[in-house]
Parts: sequence; structure tokens; C-alpha cells
Amino acid sequence: NNIVAIVGRPNVGKSTLFNRLIQRREAIVDSVSGVTRDRNYGKSEWNGKEFSVIDTGGYVRGSDDVFEGEIRKQVELAIDEADVIIFVVDVEEGITPMDETVAKLLRKVTKPVLLAVNKVDNAMREKDAVEFYNLGLGDYYTFASISGSGTGDLLDALIEAFPEKPEVEVKEDLPRFAVVGRPNAGKSSFINALIGQDRYIVTDIAGTTRDAIDTKFDRFGFEFNLVDTAGIRRKAKVKEDLEFYSVMRSVRAIEHADVCILVIDATRGFEGQDQSIFWLAEKNRKGVVILVNKWDLVEKDTMSSRDYEEKIRKELMPFTDVPILFVSALTKQRLLKALEATVQVFENRKQRISTSKFNEYMLKVIEAYPPPAMKGKYVKIKYCMQLPTQTPQFVFFANLPQYVKEPYKRYLENKIRDNWDFAGVPIDIYIREK
Ligand code: GDP
Repeated sequence: NNIVAIVGRPNVGKSTLFNRLIQRREAIVDSVSGVTRDRNYGKSEWNGKEFSVIDTGGYVRGSDDVFEGEIRKQVELAIDEADVIIFVVDVEEGITPMDETVAKLLRKVTKPVLLAVNKVDNAMREKDAVEFYNLGLGDYYTFASISGSGTGDLLDALIEAFPEKPEVEVKEDLPRFAVVGRPNAGKSSFINALIGQDRYIVTDIAGTTRDAIDTKFDRFGFEFNLVDTAGIRRKAKVKEDLEFYSVMRSVRAIEHADVCILVIDATRGFEGQDQSIFWLAEKNRKGVVILVNKWDLVEKDTMSSRDYEEKIRKELMPFTDVPILFVSALTKQRLLKALEATVQVFENRKQRISTSKFNEYMLKVIEAYPPPAMKGKYVKIKYCMQLPTQTPQFVFFANLPQYVKEPYKRYLENKIRDNWDFAGVPIDIYIREK
């Protein structure tokens, strides 16, 4: 999956463009999950090509007096994480010193950069846009993010610019696990404790673009790939102090993995960054296991693991069916359990329920508690099945699908989870006309 990053100084229209790109797709996703949780990351699609979009404006968006250092960070994030970069400028303002700074950084990049001139909504401004040749980035695309005019051409160019990726051959159907979490949570310690010091036998896959790398391991009788994006990252001078940056650093690893092992620091709790990473995995329909690491540091009489777990689960609503384990990378406590749980989530995500078994159980469940009648009409569901998709998706055929609302879908999901083990795995429920 290609990753697109939008860069540019504040208030040039990055977020409007971002919203426009992800709008169509988000509308669909949101009607399913009922939640939007990230303003900076989303999925988009054009001419059948799917891609992810990062608005690297992140937390600096909106403020006018952004330091050059912030812009630099933003662009470096884009350079590291994206396959294609869209650089947005504003025809009304013309070229500003900050635009020059960004252009200077981008001129050194070998990745495709699309220069997008915003607010071009008449012929006069079309002429004014010519000055942006001076940025030394070649040809540009004009558009107006408010009305959306010109975005079609920009998207065509974007799709065109995606690098040809060598189909990475997945020889074996090994699970791919990514260890994610904020800095200092103990990710490296966990990995080292789990697989020993002989890691980072990074075998570079051919191709110029930085990509996730799988390293195969065999521990406790389980074979799996660990997704590693850190090994190939250019030595970052960038301190990942801002929450936004460290979250966005996880995007590629999460997208590439089957199951994300989210490591959190027990002494700090399940905070903003942890939650953002969790929802990033959920949004990508990946399996998730939460490891509360550094459990050795927590005074057991002040906080029991059960209270701790309950606190975390509250934050996971409504996706609470996630394994939570208390581990210590230092004392190697419950590492095998953690791996077992991760493998189990992988299996859960892969499982296929036969249509007859699914109907047998679910139709009874529906009969016991049918969807509420709406406007005097009864909703009937007579048939359902699991779809042959990569992640668990279920479709229920109804005479009046529009009358089946979110709470009832949640009821169906809970019943599915009661009867089959989908712990740690996001589920999609669709209601369709029969
Ligand atoms: P990363 O940035 O997520 O990879 O975190 P590191 O693995 O580098 O760990 C950050 C710090 O936490 C280091 O000083 C580790 O020694 C320490 N640490 C990691 N895991 C544990 C643990 O389970 N218990 C304790 N007490 N310290 C830990």
C-alpha cells in the first residue's frame, strides 16, 4: 500500500486537501465503525488504487509562527515515511520564505514530489501560479481545495507517481507481527528478550524505496516474521518528541503487519499516543495485542492487574475484546504468553466460519432478539455469511437494511464474539438488501 504525505507551511490548505482525499472512503468506513479518530491519517482510493494519506501538518497546523525546525521535522517525516509527497503552496500568498525552506529540502529527495498550488480558481490565478516554477521543483498542479476543482488531475498524477513496487514474494504464509508503541515503552527490550540478541539480521529487499522488512524468527516452536521498519530508517536526527510524529512512524509497520503488538509502559498508563496507535491498527483492521510492559516496576498492592486492565478496556470502547497481558521485558515475565496470545490473534483473524454453522447460530440469535421494527415495518433477516475477505467481515441480508442501526449491529458483533474467538480482531458487519 502506498503512502502519501502532504507537506507545506500552516494554513495553505493541507487539511482541506487531506479531508477531500479521504472523504469518500471515510464516509464508508465511518458508517460501519461509527467512529473517526484520526485527523491526520486516513485511507483513500482513486481509480481503484488504494493508498494512505498522512497530513504531516500534525500538531503544528494552524499556528502561524511555526519555527523552521518544525517544518523541517514535518518534511523529514514525509521523506522517511511516504512514497509520494504532495507539497502544497498558496497562490494568494505567493512564495514565502518557509516555502523556500521546504522546497530546498524536497529538491534533494529522490521520491516523487508533486507541487500543488492551492486557491487557483480563476484564469488570473492560473497565470499567477507560474511563479512557483521558481521553487525548482519542476511542473506544478493547480487546484482549489475548497471547491475541489483540479483535484482530479492531481490525483491522476499521484497515482501515476506511485513507485512500481516489486511484488514482495511471500513464500510462506507466516504471520507478520509488528511491535509498536511510543518511544521508551520497551519495544526493543521486548524484542531482544523474545528473540535474543541476534536480531537485526536485516536482509534488504531490492528496490529503492524504503519499505517494511520481514525478518523470520522461530521461537518456542512458533514461526513468524517480525516487521521491522527501524533498521532501514536513515539515522534520524529527528527527535520524536511530538506525539504525532511517533504515531506516524508506526504507519508503515502497522499496514504491513497482520497483528500489532502494542507495547505500553505500565508506569505511564494507556495514554494519548498509545491510544492513537491502537486506533491506527484498528482502522487498518489489524489484529492487536496489548502488552503492559515494565510490570516489574508497579507496586502490586497499589494497583492490581485486574484494575489496570479494566481501565485500559474502558478506553478501547467499543472494541474491548483485545488480549491485554502484563509483562516485563526486563525479568522476561510472561514473554511466551505474549507470543502465544499474538499467535492466537493471528489465528482468530484468519478463521473462516462455514455458512451453515454461521446461519444456524446467528439466525437463532436474531430470532431471540430481532431488529426493532421501524415505522411499523418489521425487519427480517433470513440469511447471513462470512465474506471471503482477508479480515473478518460478515454480511446479513435483510428486507429493509436501512432500518438496521448501529446498536443492532453491535449486538450481532457481540454475539459473534460470544460464540467464536475473535479476540483482538476488528470485525466488520454489513447489512445488505437480500
Ligand atoms: P523502546 O524505545 O520502546 O524500544 O524502549 P527500550 O526497549 O529502549 O526501553 C526503554 C527503557 O525502558 C530502557 O531503559 C529499558 O531498559 C527499560 N525497560 C524496558 N523494558 C523494561 C521492563 O520490563 N522493566 C523495566 N524495569 N525496565 C524496562
